[in-house]
Amino acid sequence: NAGVEKLKWSYVHGNDSQPLLGITIGKALQNTVERNPTKEAVVFYDDGIRKTNEQFLEDVDQFAAGLANIGLKRGDRIGIWGPNRYEWIVTQYASARLGLILVNINPQYKQDELEYALRKVGCKALISAISHQNQDYYEMLFNIIPELATDHPNDIKSHLLPEFKTLIMMGESKYRGALRFSEISEAGGNKERDYILDLQDKLQFDDPINIQFTSGTTGSPKGVTLSHHNITNNSHTVGIRLDYHQRESRICCPVPLYHCFGMVLGSLSICMHGACVVFPAASFKPEATLQAVQDEKCTSLYGVPTMFIDMLNHPDFNNYNFSSLYTGVMAGSPCPIEVMKEVNTKMNMPEVIVCYGLTETSPVTFSSFRDSPIEKRVSTIGLPGSHVEAKVINENGDIVRTNVSGELCSRGYTTMLCYWEDPDKTDDVISPARWFRTGDIAVIDDEGYCKIVGRIKDMIIRGGENVYPTEIEQILYQHPKVKDVQVVGVPDQRLGEEICACIELKSGESSTADEIIEYCRQQMARYKVPRYVEFVDRYPLTVTGKVMKFKIREDMVQKLGLQ
Ligand code: AMP
Repeated sequence: NAGVEKLKWSYVHGNDSQPLLGITIGKALQNTVERNPTKEAVVFYDDGIRKTNEQFLEDVDQFAAGLANIGLKRGDRIGIWGPNRYEWIVTQYASARLGLILVNINPQYKQDELEYALRKVGCKALISAISHQNQDYYEMLFNIIPELATDHPNDIKSHLLPEFKTLIMMGESKYRGALRFSEISEAGGNKERDYILDLQDKLQFDDPINIQFTSGTTGSPKGVTLSHHNITNNSHTVGIRLDYHQRESRICCPVPLYHCFGMVLGSLSICMHGACVVFPAASFKPEATLQAVQDEKCTSLYGVPTMFIDMLNHPDFNNYNFSSLYTGVMAGSPCPIEVMKEVNTKMNMPEVIVCYGLTETSPVTFSSFRDSPIEKRVSTIGLPGSHVEAKVINENGDIVRTNVSGELCSRGYTTMLCYWEDPDKTDDVISPARWFRTGDIAVIDDEGYCKIVGRIKDMIIRGGENVYPTEIEQILYQHPKVKDVQVVGVPDQRLGEEICACIELKSGESSTADEIIEYCRQQMARYKVPRYVEFVDRYPLTVTGKVMKFKIREDMVQKLGLQ
């Protein structure tokens, strides 16, 4: 294990005593059903949907047969654009059974981004939903594909998207030019079902199975292409760290399915760990999540730090019963130490682990262990996962000494296949020796524990000093009035950049910029003390609940008149 010997250089590798699995998602689901047909596999709490393993596989194969019936075949791309609903995971598993490549599209995408994604990968079909988070999915689709009004729903001939053939809407309502989800399932016959059963032995575990568009704050979004091998093994190895193979698990997953976190750590737990996965609502709501944890007696809870912060600060938090919980995953962005401590104690999750990674790394490359020392568990991202190597490098690409910061790189089964049809961008991030550059700045200590100190592009350079926002945020979280804090760099004529702290106060609290600045002066070196402090009600968030720092920066620059 990487943590045992004292290290001098920032290179670590995970334990590889257990071999990786060589299995497709479809086979893994079939094995789970054979082992335990009547065990509950999935609950959509808000919609009142419950399925056992065998019922789930039945729905999956019926839908897969329907997709085969409309002419979709191995290697074809099929998009999915919608919130967390039962149809989402049926589509995910059905496309895997049929060897299709599922293209996850961010539910917050607007028309142009959607068109770009569909066109870039040549989707033949799209599964969508209607009216989620004030967006009318169908209207946007209609604008991109006006032929929906006229063509036969099974064979739309779109002038903009020549490959596109079919739109399938989740739910039972009928939309012009679109097929209902149930209509597709009903059209699948015995012939197609036999074909699918036969296909399972032919599909390869290193086939591409999934494309996810990264949020891409600069340039156009890139299609991260992952194989069965990438994601089945990621789910498997993280599950071992959580001890899922030893105990029965009921996992509460409020994380969006379109994101790797929800899809790999959440949904794939059905087939990789025989767990029951509980999805509280179509999109994250703190009360629905707390209620689902209590009523469904969940043992494990997943979320990004902002979700946990929202739950901990919910006015009825103390009325919920957390006695069934003991573990979970916090991932996706830096976790404030104070929040981690509260999750440990107030939410009864002493074994919660932190996971770190990127969509490009399937996603998890580092995580803590359920029994890692508490100090390491709250302040680092732990140790590399099984079969993962990692190093921290300087600007010249050389490995740095331990405790020195640099760019974190990782290598192993986790690295994506490529960015879809984008060899130049792929080569920018994956070296010929398959090292993936994360763009995150990290420090590895002499026990091998890694700490993320910032993103290369978020680092503030103030008068020549490198300032990592995370460090200032960690200190400000400890202020008793602060609920959440984000630190960004804003332009400054003299110093190049100045530091701006953007604070959400706890409900009922009030404070002033002077009070916060005085607090910072007591706690940190002068060059790190924010020049500006602004109070906000809510941060701009991505649908995964990640804070959009670039948007905060834009807002602050405008508010402070610094343009
Ligand atoms: P995405 O590809 O959307 O999952 O975003 C990946 C990025 O999220 C990483 O490059 C990190 O900057 C950040 N991230 C993910 N997990 C963590 C974590 N546990 N701690 C700190 N940052 C994280």
